[in-house]
Amino acid sequence: MNEKRDSFIDPLYNRIRLELGRERNYPIIQISKLSVFNELCKESLKQFICAGEGNITVIGDVETLGRMEGLGALSENLKYLVVLSDSPPEHNIDVIIQPPPDFMDENDRIFMVISDTAGVVFLGTVLEDSQRRGEENFIGGWSYHIGYIRELLKLYSPSIDISLSDDATNLEKITELSSRIMSLHAELVSEETSLRGLDKNELAVALEILKSISGKRRAHDVLYVFVEKISKVVPSDRCSIVRIWGQDEVAHVLASHDDAEIYDMSISLNKYPEIKKALATGEKVIINDVREDPLMIPCIDVLVKAGIRSILVLPIVLYDQEVGSLLLRAVRKQGSFTPKEISFFEIVTNAAANALERAQLFESVQQANKALEKLAVTDGLTELYNHRYFRERFEEEILRAQRYKIPLSCALFDIDDFKKCNDVYGHLFGDFVLKEIAKRMIQHVRRTDIVARYGGEEFVIIMPQTDLQGAITQAERVRKSIEERDFSYMGREVRITVSGGVAGMVHDEVLNIEDMIRIADIGLYEAKRSGKNKIVAPQLKQKNEKEFHQ
Ligand code: GH3
Ligand code: MG
Ligand code: MG
Repeated sequence: MNEKRDSFIDPLYNRIRLELGRERNYPIIQISKLSVFNELCKESLKQFICAGEGNITVIGDVETLGRMEGLGALSENLKYLVVLSDSPPEHNIDVIIQPPPDFMDENDRIFMVISDTAGVVFLGTVLEDSQRRGEENFIGGWSYHIGYIRELLKLYSPSIDISLSDDATNLEKITELSSRIMSLHAELVSEETSLRGLDKNELAVALEILKSISGKRRAHDVLYVFVEKISKVVPSDRCSIVRIWGQDEVAHVLASHDDAEIYDMSISLNKYPEIKKALATGEKVIINDVREDPLMIPCIDVLVKAGIRSILVLPIVLYDQEVGSLLLRAVRKQGSFTPKEISFFEIVTNAAANALERAQLFESVQQANKALEKLAVTDGLTELYNHRYFRERFEEEILRAQRYKIPLSCALFDIDDFKKCNDVYGHLFGDFVLKEIAKRMIQHVRRTDIVARYGGEEFVIIMPQTDLQGAITQAERVRKSIEERDFSYMGREVRITVSGGVAGMVHDEVLNIEDMIRIADIGLYEAKRSGKNKIVAPQLKQKNEKEFHQ
């Protein structure tokens, strides 16, 4: 299906998409009208400025930038405005004129907005009259993906130094900006192309359906609400959406209007020749009467038994090929689908593909978010929490402990004579020891405790709801677990020990994070000084001294 869409032309958009596409997975949302492209470019620049983004760079071809009314007024918010042009434009604002790259031709369009925290790119090619198909006069798309934007920057504007950081906090911004552009895109599209060919009444119904699915952010919700609504308008005894990966002989039912619970139910394609045919041809398949259609002979018994009379299968054209092939299948026990009903199905299904694509994109942004969030708080070597996360979390726990007057403690550990260990057995073994200690710590703390790598060979454990005495016991247990089991290096047993310092919250003194760490550090220093492989809690000593003097 998608190949057909791509192969009738070889514009810049496809070249870039395909070249970069091979080794990566950038989500790209298609744009098939030049007016939509122009409108999205303009609006997204405004979105960036309204969102208060800093250091905005805009790069665009001369045609696209020239069409942008009001760019002059926005330009004071821009750091760079790069015009890909062989000759200077008529704007009298500060611009960088840069010749377009060799591969660009006059029908190609590019527009990028990049700030400190996020970016978005629109690109594509205006189709010549002879290449147009119906309403489509543009083949292109847009993406918010930082990796994609970086690669395009290298291609279009290698001389400009733009720092797009990897900071995971930006993802929230990216999600917010891209969701806004997505809903704008959906509005532009549903107003125009997709709903032509319907009469007023049908249009109202179709818009109602689209409205109800376009707000859904999970792909499954989009699909289920879609089949449920459409089978209310065009009655069918079963209306479902199935997906097939590549050449698989198995299809997966993703949603069925009569059962909200169905998701990913497998069916064998052998029993569904109509789906096989739709897959093979990329065209809709209409079976008006199963008893009279030779295609259905192999499974006629089952169909008759189920009382099925007519079947309709429609391919759903999605741009994203990673999704596999999606089809809508509707069956009726009495009568067949009329041409008008089929055309209604077709039009609404195509528009729904848009909502689905957005939902899927949203899911992929969310997944990327989660992965990056995890990466952002994890130490690469030990897979414990990193220092940054430790500080954030400790601040939170201290506030909680103070507010509710509950105990809180922490323990700081440092490996004993680790330098020697590195010197004798090498750094690789040192790294192995760090990982192994991390494992033992995790094994010996409670589920609510937070273990982090504090620094090089230092670890810290936050112990919520644990008083000083409890924390000492806990730290002792960790120390012992490391001392008791030798580490092995090329068959030789190596003994590794740690020392630790413990600090506990004292509510009437209101300790902050620095105080807590300082106390634990004093304990650690004392443990090292007095022979290592031990735990010291300076506050305990003070307390004992106090009690002694009382
Ligand atoms: P002490 O008992 O007083 O703590 O002695 P030490 O040798 O452990 O003291 P020090 O803190 O000065 O040494 C820390 C060593 O830890 C130095 C550094 O090379 C090593 N180290 C820090 N991070 C890593 C790491 O990621 N991998 C490895 N292999 N070694 C590390
Ligand atoms: Mg150290
Ligand atoms: Mg050490």
